[in-house]
Amino acid sequence: MKRPSPAAKAKELLRQCDITSAPVPVDSIAKYLGVEIRYARLDDELSGMIFVKDGRPIIGVNALHHPNRQRFTIAHELGHYMLHRELITNSVHVDKQFKVLMRDSNAGTGTQRVEVEANQFAAALLMPEPLVLKAIADHTFDIDDENPLGELAKQFKVSRQTMEYRVRNLG
Ligand SMILES: [Zn+2]
Repeated sequence: MKRPSPAAKAKELLRQCDITSAPVPVDSIAKYLGVEIRYARLDDELSGMIFVKDGRPIIGVNALHHPNRQRFTIAHELGHYMLHRELITNSVHVDKQFKVLMRDSNAGTGTQRVEVEANQFAAALLMPEPLVLKAIADHTFDIDDENPLGELAKQFKVSRQTMEYRVRNLG
């Protein structure tokens, strides 16, 4: 049996939570899954972490980062929770910068594969394909133009860079 893709997992979760508009309420989704979110002042290079304590999954987010980045961090950690439960059962999974791991071509084995999958999940969760395509259709915008992309990013509460990557990926 084929394992569902990270994007398919995210899509299913959005359906379960009945989310049909942007911005996607990532904290409500965490709550739905019984995952607690804690904000802490961490070193700048640390984005977040996920671990299980007394059977309860907990996501730690860097309180000093921009809210859009915090949303991506939460979505990324939820990806680990949904896709890599074995990874977080007996240890704390800590994430530093994951920007460099966005590219699918980096999806090798082991750690990198896990991080790429979590990013794919996060992208699909925060920027659901149908909602992004609809927003683009409604605004007739050019992805080489910076401002419409900024508008789109604002609408979904993600960084412009993250949205640009998503839009290019969706073709
Ligand atoms: Zn990670």
